[in-house]
Amino acid sequence: MKLVILDRDGVINQDSDEYVKSVDEWIPLPGSIEAIAKLCHHGFRIAIATNQSGLARGYFDLATLDAMHEKLQQLVEAAGGSIHYLVYCPHGPDDHCHCRKPLPGMFEQIRDAFALADLHEVAVIGDSLRDLEAGMSLGCQPFLVKTGKGERTLAKGNLPAATRVFADLAAAADYLCSQPEPV
Ligand SMILES: [Mg+2]
Ligand SMILES: [Zn+2]
Repeated sequence: MKLVILDRDGVINQDSDEYVKSVDEWIPLPGSIEAIAKLCHHGFRIAIATNQSGLARGYFDLATLDAMHEKLQQLVEAAGGSIHYLVYCPHGPDDHCHCRKPLPGMFEQIRDAFALADLHEVAVIGDSLRDLEAGMSLGCQPFLVKTGKGERTLAKGNLPAATRVFADLAAAADYLCSQPEPV
């Protein structure tokens, strides 16, 4: 199956050190919506795995998070694509959950949702090392984008050797869509 797993903040929409707390603050990055639609046109299924500790911190509620994701889905559908699966971690760093990246819980959920044995040959696209680590523990191929925290992540110089680096989601999608088989 052609599947790609995306981080949300800093990959699809603008990130903020003050958290993305409202629908109005959920602002797509240039070209990201079109990139998701392009992936869909090339037969990829789209999954999103996103840490949303702002829920645990009380910065926004579940209804607001749902409304952000409704906005995302509507924008992607208007561009001719779809988000097939979205999972978020609502916990904080001290909650000791199994889903907050870099732990693999959300990726296990995605694997099971698509009835896959593992996530080998599935690209995980993120702007933070923990996005890549969470996916790689199930076999994902790591893709870093320079948007969001990506430049900061790159500057730390501790990326997995197999990491492919792209300017943004559009560039990563162009690469994936140019491959004869899923990478
Ligand atoms: Mg991010
Ligand atoms: Zn969690």
